[in-house]
Amino acid sequence: MSIVLFILGLIIGSFLNVCIYRIPEGISVVNPRSFCPYCRRQLSWLDNIPVVSYLLLRGRCRYCGEKISIQYPLVELLTGIIFLLFYVKFGVSVKFILFVTISSLLIIAFFIDLKYMLLPDVVIIPSIILSAIYGGIYGFPHNFITAGIFTLIFYLLRVIFKGGLGVGDIELIFIFSLMLGLYGTLLVVIVSSLIGTIYGLYLIKKGRAGMKTKIPFGPFLIGAFILISSLNIPIFYLPH
Ligand SMILES: [Zn+2]
Repeated sequence: MSIVLFILGLIIGSFLNVCIYRIPEGISVVNPRSFCPYCRRQLSWLDNIPVVSYLLLRGRCRYCGEKISIQYPLVELLTGIIFLLFYVKFGVSVKFILFVTISSLLIIAFFIDLKYMLLPDVVIIPSIILSAIYGGIYGFPHNFITAGIFTLIFYLLRVIFKGGLGVGDIELIFIFSLMLGLYGTLLVVIVSSLIGTIYGLYLIKKGRAGMKTKIPFGPFLIGAFILISSLNIPIFYLPH
């Protein structure tokens, strides 16, 4: 079963790549079929096998020879691993389905936020709906109370510090609260702030950013959420 779900994760990851590339460009995610972003030639199924095609083609397009971004096999591999980790943690269950679906949507959000500094509604709104279903089944009413409190705190922080936190970041906190409850969400906030600060300091030290440079916070929140919710570590398992 693990191997089946890992391969399913790889295939879903391949579709996530399509979404990451096409959603900001406003192209349909199902039509046309996969094409090379440089020469626009349509790709056959042989060039579309997750990870394997990238390795066989040595990271270059079969037709024009342009380099294919390492992001493609990485997203596929990452999604496969996430499917595996959630399977180990939850087995095949409703929890598994909701966590892998929301994580997949958030992987799309991660890369789009990184590149364009925005969290698209097409992935955030379904995530909110699914997390509300999760919270309704497994965390009612405490996860909803947590969500209310966290949203209010982050909204106030946004008003006080004018900017910094985007509306999308607050939506993410809302989703995480519904999924993880108080304890898990606190962990996500702490871990993402820590990593975000270290990354910011690193950029400043390298001279690639100043105190005023804007860095999207969404990817850090999403990274911390997926890390904390998928790992099978008892400390991350405590009460919802
Ligand atoms: Zn090409």
